Amino acid sequence: MDIEKKVRQTLGKMKLNKKEKIIVALSGGKDSTLAAYFLKKFRYNIEGFHINLGIVKYSDKCLEKVKQLCRDLNIKCNYYDVKKEMGSSMCYLRSGIQSRAKGQIKNCAICGVIKKWIINKKVRELKADKIATGHNLDDEAQTFLMNIFKGSPQLSANLGVITRNVANKKFIPRIKPLFYIPENEIKKYVNKKKLPVIYEKCPCAIDSYRIQVRSFLEKLPDKEKQNIIKNFEKLYPKIKKTEDPRIRYCEICGEPSRKELCKRCSLMRI
Ligand code: AMP
Ligand code: ZN
Repeated sequence: MDIEKKVRQTLGKMKLNKKEKIIVALSGGKDSTLAAYFLKKFRYNIEGFHINLGIVKYSDKCLEKVKQLCRDLNIKCNYYDVKKEMGSSMCYLRSGIQSRAKGQIKNCAICGVIKKWIINKKVRELKADKIATGHNLDDEAQTFLMNIFKGSPQLSANLGVITRNVANKKFIPRIKPLFYIPENEIKKYVNKKKLPVIYEKCPCAIDSYRIQVRSFLEKLPDKEKQNIIKNFEKLYPKIKKTEDPRIRYCEICGEPSRKELCKRCSLMRI
């Protein structure tokens, strides 16, 4: 089946209403760009949202690509500038946390937690019904395996085409239009359509556990990655049962959280 049909089918499964407001979290990279391209092509009601992380030249290039995409697709884009809103760039925030934690926490782990917090909070303020991200089949297979390797398969309860998070009105459901699409197919399609994307990797993405799992998975054919996802879906009902449905609110920022403090505030407090 071709990529366009597969994405259309994945979106069909989600039973979205074409009127609901979907905000696509745009990084400037190929995956989120393609997710926006298809959502627009299939006439969903979308806007973009981009976080400028302030990682010197790299972030400037990402911003430029996002602006170009939103112009090409004729969609509104919303921006969040980490430097302006949080007082310093992601690099500075991260190195502060790392030096206080004596280097125990990896770059991508910190950036990932902060980005997720910003996306949920800001997209809720923009009154969107759904957040769309560019997560693809390779990303999801990596996350599922990482959770197993860490001995915490229950963490995969939030994986899937649509996050089936515990119902909580402060959590905006996340959708992943490219959930079943292998990275190789995305690269080919984005090249063919000449979509405006940044190919450079984030200069801070070094030495993360995900990078190690990714390089292991890269050796496998796409079929094997698809099998990992099929097995995840088979196990999903059992994984979901192990999830703790209780959600509270972070004592510092008020965002939904499983513990007294959300992951972002626990990091900022180190
Ligand atoms: P990552 O955590 O970098 O693998 O990104 C996962 C998803 O988060 C991407 O597919 C995007 O949808 C979204 N995302 C990543 N970086 C940004 C950013 N700077 N601004 C907005 N969304 C982002
Ligand atoms: Zn918090």
